[in-house]
Amino acid sequence: MAAQILDGRAIAATIREELRERAAHRTRELGFAPGLAILRIGNDPASAVYTNQLMRTAEQVAVRAMVEQLPGDISPARVRDVLLQLNDDPHIQGILVQMPLPPQIPEQMIAELIDPGKDVDGISTRSMGNLFLHLPTFVPSTCLAVMEMLARAGIRIAGRRAVVVGKSNVVGKPLAFLLLQHDATVTVCHKYTRDLCSYTRQGDILVVAAGVPGLITADMVKPGAVVIDVGINVLPQGGITGDVDYERVEKVAGAISPVPGGVGVLTNLMVLKQMIEGPQTEQPAPASPCGERDGGNTSTISKQ
Ligand code: NAD
Repeated sequence: MAAQILDGRAIAATIREELRERAAHRTRELGFAPGLAILRIGNDPASAVYTNQLMRTAEQVAVRAMVEQLPGDISPARVRDVLLQLNDDPHIQGILVQMPLPPQIPEQMIAELIDPGKDVDGISTRSMGNLFLHLPTFVPSTCLAVMEMLARAGIRIAGRRAVVVGKSNVVGKPLAFLLLQHDATVTVCHKYTRDLCSYTRQGDILVVAAGVPGLITADMVKPGAVVIDVGINVLPQGGITGDVDYERVEKVAGAISPVPGGVGVLTNLMVLKQMIEGPQTEQPAPASPCGERDGGNTSTISKQ
């Protein structure tokens, strides 16, 4: 049986409509459309693409987004001033700081200065702490996108074994905590993990965020598993590919997300969702355990 395709574009279309409605409601409450400030320091080309996409999505959802562009050689003191101004601006409900930062601007400084109430990409030390403690919080948008994808596909998490490949502060680690909150048994792997496939093969849910094209091959996947590919790798001939050997893994998995057209499509919507809705009290959980290829029971995997 072919794997269920976790189609980010279809999920995004539904979420976009929902957000339009909620944004209109929020606009009525505030008396003005919620505003997102995107802080760009320097001219990283990938972040320019992401900024343009985010601006377009904001327009579709009918919220305001503005770019605060700062020069790449700016001093930390000046960045601090700009960030504090945005923190105080009553017309700004969300602040997103584009990465990567120039070398003279420490990430830690941003994580400590950004108002936790406007930290719609969940990078602040407060947001990370709240996530750890399972308190209402903003969470990194990519992680929320993965959780939203699982929820919308009706994939049950509780009681299942989740394996996360990658342990970065923006994807792997926060995602492991979100899966843990939903009562998965979580294993986190990284580049020093020995015998990676002995872990990945145990995952009922396997999420890969390593930035290594083709890292996950079919023999590394438990038959019937849910495979979420977060990787975005630019191909020398143009276009992008994920971390999973999609063509072959699709024949083994119960459900799989493609790249492009998977998690990446949902990420900027999650920034806007958090800006419109505020800190997430409960991360998305499936309404019902339908749509699962293994019926939500790890002992009856369809492709075994
Ligand atoms: P990162 O470089 O900060 O972290 C990569 C992680 O993968 C590290 O923890 C590293 O130990 C691990 N890793 C590297 N090689 C490995 C290997 N051979 N085996 C096992 N683990 C290995 O990257 P990141 O920012 O976490 O991003 C990871 C990937 O996700 C990248 O491809 C990035 O482009 C993509 N990404 C996608 C989105 C999205 O919206 N879909 C958002 C952020 C990042």
